[in-house]
Amino acid sequence: MHLHIKKGFLNYSVIKEKTFSKRLINWYTERKRDLPWRKTKDPYPVWLSEIILQQTRVDQGLPYWKRFMESFPTIQDLAEAPEEKVLRLWQGLGYYSRARNLHAAGKHIVYDLGGVFPPTYSEILKLRGVGPYTAAAIASICFDEPMPVVDGNVFRFASRYFGITDDISKGSSRKVFESILKNEISSKHPGTFNQAMMEFGATVCSPSPSCNDCLFQLDCYAYNKKEQKNLPVKTGKTRVRDRHFNYIVFKTGERFLLKERTEKDVWSGLFDFFLIEEQSNEESVLNGLKSELGLGKFAVGQITEPMIHILSHQKIHARFYEIKMEAHDSERVIQNSTLRSFSIEEVLNLPKPKLIVNYLQRIGIT
Ligand code: SF4
Repeated sequence: MHLHIKKGFLNYSVIKEKTFSKRLINWYTERKRDLPWRKTKDPYPVWLSEIILQQTRVDQGLPYWKRFMESFPTIQDLAEAPEEKVLRLWQGLGYYSRARNLHAAGKHIVYDLGGVFPPTYSEILKLRGVGPYTAAAIASICFDEPMPVVDGNVFRFASRYFGITDDISKGSSRKVFESILKNEISSKHPGTFNQAMMEFGATVCSPSPSCNDCLFQLDCYAYNKKEQKNLPVKTGKTRVRDRHFNYIVFKTGERFLLKERTEKDVWSGLFDFFLIEEQSNEESVLNGLKSELGLGKFAVGQITEPMIHILSHQKIHARFYEIKMEAHDSERVIQNSTLRSFSIEEVLNLPKPKLIVNYLQRIGIT
């Protein structure tokens, strides 16, 4: 393993083991944000918070965590819930595979493991939707196992403080950070240490760090070398794919046709409208529709301007075409497709991607 830690940095060499940990934990104890999942060592609410916060900010995730705990106070309640209900509660958070994995792992714990949450890092890592970061967080917080967590905030803070120049876009770098932090983690309070690392990276050693208020200023590598802007090292850029969605909103009176997304693609398990994915003009979309569904005459209603929806690696350009049909035409479309007919109230209760929710709001359905 290559350790690119800056060993020549004088101040680092005089930091005594545990000093860093103690200072960090003291800071955290005084300053930590008051969050409900921090008041417990019960793995269920902690796990739920970790899954919700994987790609979501705390202020956005907190109401979701509360709603989940109200609807499913125990892991048994989660396991017994229909998937549609879980996805509906998740609506708006994005990355729906997190919700599906959460549900599947909950069922596994209840039905295969007798309702007992696995108590070690290696066993937690086997749960669906749990990677090294989440497993380390739960193992340390709930079971006092000294496994360091490494998330984006920890990468940033640790790389700057210790002077680690390994490229964090490479998978192998995680091991470098983990091995350095294993020497620093508090054996008595590993969970508090981990939470403190993440909190410090999120609030003080942030992308625009507050070095003037930082208790580590004297012995921080980046501060002393004026390298804050260059750390962490991240060379790999994620490529963003453009996609063009033409949604056909079939409407008969006050009923809409929607389908469940079953493909291995974004939003699997959620409901959306009939979709033609291609970059084309109005005419070709409507002609494509005729040939694909064998439609005769239909009335085209409102067509929206392109709506842009950003996902982590995709930029979706969506247009919605409203098509008004008589009931018998609607029946034919249902026969030729996987679409189903829903009342407005039913549409509102279906789990849907945020893009569809935004469109419905735009046409006054909320
Ligand atoms: S001094 Fe600045 S760069 Fe160093 S740990 Fe503190 S906030 Fe981060």
